[in-house]
Amino acid sequence: MDKSLKIFAPATVANLSCGFDVLGCCLDTVGDEMIVSLTSDPGVKITKIEGADLPLETEKNVAGVAVQALLNVYNKDIGVTIEIYKKIKAGSGIGSSAASSAGAVWAVNHLLGNPFTAHELVTFAMEGEKLASGNAHADNVAPALLGGFTLVRSYDPLDVIKLNTPKDLMITVIHPQIEVKTSDSRSVIKNNVSLKKAIRQWGNVGGLIAGLYTEDYKLIGRSLEDVIIEPLRSILIPEFESVKQAAIAKGALGCGISGSGPSIFALSKGEETANNVADAIRSVYNQTGLDFEIHVSKINNQGIKLI
Ligand code: ADP
Repeated sequence: MDKSLKIFAPATVANLSCGFDVLGCCLDTVGDEMIVSLTSDPGVKITKIEGADLPLETEKNVAGVAVQALLNVYNKDIGVTIEIYKKIKAGSGIGSSAASSAGAVWAVNHLLGNPFTAHELVTFAMEGEKLASGNAHADNVAPALLGGFTLVRSYDPLDVIKLNTPKDLMITVIHPQIEVKTSDSRSVIKNNVSLKKAIRQWGNVGGLIAGLYTEDYKLIGRSLEDVIIEPLRSILIPEFESVKQAAIAKGALGCGISGSGPSIFALSKGEETANNVADAIRSVYNQTGLDFEIHVSKINNQGIKLI
């Protein structure tokens, strides 16, 4: 059995417009790296973090909390050390905390000979998400662990479903370099939703899932609409409407807020369109004076992987 391994822990896009807290997908070209080892010294230790200013204390780092949740079920006497090489910025809205939580439990499970299923790992990784945002959501950790597109059909009991990934689907993501904390962007959301909006939203969720399975790109595009969260949250994101218009004008199927923002995602059919969309978004953001990063990626159907 391996005593140490190195993994790629991918970025993820949660919500996907209509699926607040329930839908997500996994990226291929952006992600953290982690080195996770079993040691004879019991307990979970974060021994190194590069690329971000994050806490080394086990109970303050999502990776430590998630692994501790796993060991509480498996065997508390096991020793684990974790090195995190952060490429996904915290508060980016592309699952920075989820990559660490999911990556850490996936790696420990692998080192132990895979005693837990991917679905069980989701529950451990959710403990890390609870630390990051106060809410044990699964819409980032599920796609990181299962790959592709995922649906959290129910939180109680947890029921996570991996969906089909149409083969030509590509994603373009812009990350404006401003930090929007998940807790802040949650505070602008209202607790009540009108029936009229709810009907439109669940119609879109059904449409998006049908579109993913039938590989009907136009249906996917029509369904990428959010009448509940986006109107409230988009005001926190500079030039959101201009980015969206520019992306659609260049052929994107749809465009929305990635997770809790400030990142914005667009889905496209084919790499050429996804690159054209990236160029259009870049032109919009070049005029803002803000720093930003743009990623173009295919959908990563595997999720976390050994490297
Ligand atoms: P994202 O939306 O990109 O996942 P969040 O705002 O949900 O970002 O999570 C980032 C928060 O989690 C920050 O407050 C950060 O300090 C905390 N955190 C703790 N450990 C980690 C870690 N290993 N990786 C990323 N964020 C972490």
